[in-house]
Amino acid sequence: MPDNCLFCNIVNKQTDTRFLYEDDTYVVFKDIKPAAPVHLLLVPKMHIRSINDLAPAHTSVVGGLFFLAGEMAREQKIDQSGYKLLFNVEKGGGQVIFHLHLHLIGGWRR
Ligand code: 5GP
Ligand code: ZN
Repeated sequence: MPDNCLFCNIVNKQTDTRFLYEDDTYVVFKDIKPAAPVHLLLVPKMHIRSINDLAPAHTSVVGGLFFLAGEMAREQKIDQSGYKLLFNVEKGGGQVIFHLHLHLIGGWRR
């Protein structure tokens, strides 16, 4: 992993970021600049640069990310009101942290 990767540093607990969820494969924490009342980042611990870098060996880690998104949405109680899942891909797609992460965004008032 690149030693200058912010999300690797967060995954490795080199910052004081609080995890809402952690297991052997993923961490989840709040976005520091939330775009909605609920804005979580779901991050595989493994350093993968972006969606462009996915390989067949990553199939289960990416599949699990979507399953985790549903679980976190339920935990945040936004599963019924609804939410968005977003990958920004590379600079033109708005990606600024080049360590794969899924945005879970929701919690707007209906
Ligand atoms: P991207 O644009 O790469 O898809 O999303 C990166 C996200 O990480 C942004 O929404 C940004 O607000 C968030 N972010 C950047 N630095 C930090 C940080 O140090 N801590 C947390 N919790 N979020 C961060
Ligand atoms: Zn990384």
